[in-house]
Amino acid sequence: MSLPTFDEADARAREGSPFSNGTEGYTWMGNWCGRCVHDAPARRDDYANACPLILVALTGKTPAEWLESDPYSLADRYQCLMFRPEDDPGPDEPTPVPDPPGQLTLCPREPYERPARMFVDTLREAADVS
Ligand code: SF4
Repeated sequence: MSLPTFDEADARAREGSPFSNGTEGYTWMGNWCGRCVHDAPARRDDYANACPLILVALTGKTPAEWLESDPYSLADRYQCLMFRPEDDPGPDEPTPVPDPPGQLTLCPREPYERPARMFVDTLREAADVS
């Protein structure tokens, strides 16, 4: 699942700011967005291609992709479903998975595809051989 556009994220965001103050916001973003591939352009001063979810949050809404996690932790108050570490090569399969060649389809896929992916780290985990 690819990152939504600003308009898509804004349309499904919850009303209300995700953070009470700047300390909460910058601590959470430092832990998540500061090492996420989707906001890497902003870290290179390319703000036109920065993460649209952050922009939604800055307008006073809480992105639907941010799931409430630990209300007592500044760094992990939410879990972002779109988070991907910068060194993550991404999933092996293209997303969305294309229809097999020659496959007839009875109905369009788009309305039935989920709006967000489950949080899963696609980095290969080292096997524990001990
Ligand atoms: S996808 Fe989530 S974690 Fe990554 S930059 Fe955007 S809001 Fe932050």
